[in-house]
Amino acid sequence: MLSVLNSSRPFTDSPSPAWLKSFRERLLRWFVAHRRDLPWRKTRDPYAIWVSEVMLQQTQVATVEAYFSRFLASFPTIAALAAADEQQVLRHWEGLGYYRRARQLHRAAQVVVAEHGGVFPREIDVVRSLPGIGRYTAGAILSIAHDDPHPILEANTFRLLARLLAYRDDPRSNAGQTRLWSFAEQLLPKRDVGAFNQALMELGALICTPRAPRCDECSVAQLCPTRAQGLQAEIPPPVRKVAFESVRAAAVVVEKDDTVLVVCNPAGERWAGMWDFPRFELRGEGPTTVEQELAAQVAERTGIKVRLQRSFATLKHGVTRYRITLDAWLATARGGRLARNAWSPRWVTMDELHELPLSTTARKIAKLIAAMR
Ligand code: SF4
Repeated sequence: MLSVLNSSRPFTDSPSPAWLKSFRERLLRWFVAHRRDLPWRKTRDPYAIWVSEVMLQQTQVATVEAYFSRFLASFPTIAALAAADEQQVLRHWEGLGYYRRARQLHRAAQVVVAEHGGVFPREIDVVRSLPGIGRYTAGAILSIAHDDPHPILEANTFRLLARLLAYRDDPRSNAGQTRLWSFAEQLLPKRDVGAFNQALMELGALICTPRAPRCDECSVAQLCPTRAQGLQAEIPPPVRKVAFESVRAAAVVVEKDDTVLVVCNPAGERWAGMWDFPRFELRGEGPTTVEQELAAQVAERTGIKVRLQRSFATLKHGVTRYRITLDAWLATARGGRLARNAWSPRWVTMDELHELPLSTTARKIAKLIAAMR
């Protein structure tokens, strides 16, 4: 059997029928025995699968589990999501980050209601035309919900397939992507495509990991040319390290009576649609003190004149390549009128603040203020 499968040599063109048969059988057998019991695996509803796929982009499975159930409890159908206010949707997404995903999901739900009667479409081109849905997500939803024969390629399968091909060139290049997508297509079985695609992702996530893949436990190890050649550390080649940049910023909590001043990040800003305390990057330029710099920026953005009191907390967080050190300041209002601009500044009580979708750091600051009161 092994000579037929010929695991030590990469394919020059297509895998043999014997290799494919053996691969599919081994993979599915392993998946049946080892699959994780995840909430989105209990349904074939394309809407629920869609929500899970969008949440899982850039986010760990363990984090998504709690959000997924809460989100579906509040928005159980595409129609319910489409009818919801964007702020409500963002409030449910709060803490997951990458809020553009939530805004696009909401917009796409509205398109499905307006153009497809609220029924998630079945044609891959139509699905791919929806906001926020690319080739991978469309293929995942349609294959998992309906067993439609669409290949998938995401972070875990990207690595697994590159190793199964012993692909030595750059798999992130256009040529590499074309090769991997075509391999993913060749791998597809005729039946149980949804389980097969999920099994590929699961094997990549649990066994064929980026560092130190668990080849000794891998159900397809005998079919893997990368393992046979001992190239696991070189395939796929590591991505170039990101150069991190340090940023100093400040959030200003302006108090007036029992309210605080908040702004809504306008379109085009990183946290568009999310509310926050007025927040600024500290440039530390010129002869002004930090207090003067912040007071001037608060006035410019909100129309409210303030006196800075004290910095009461420092939070550290990362956003893409930025490592941000955020000082939280207390300030009191000294006059002025709320500006009418894209930042929509407004005064809110602590109860109202609780209902607004806030950035993760703004929520932490809100909790600190509540504890100080
Ligand atoms: S044998 Fe190792 S490198 Fe090959 S697919 Fe399995 S875990 Fe990945």
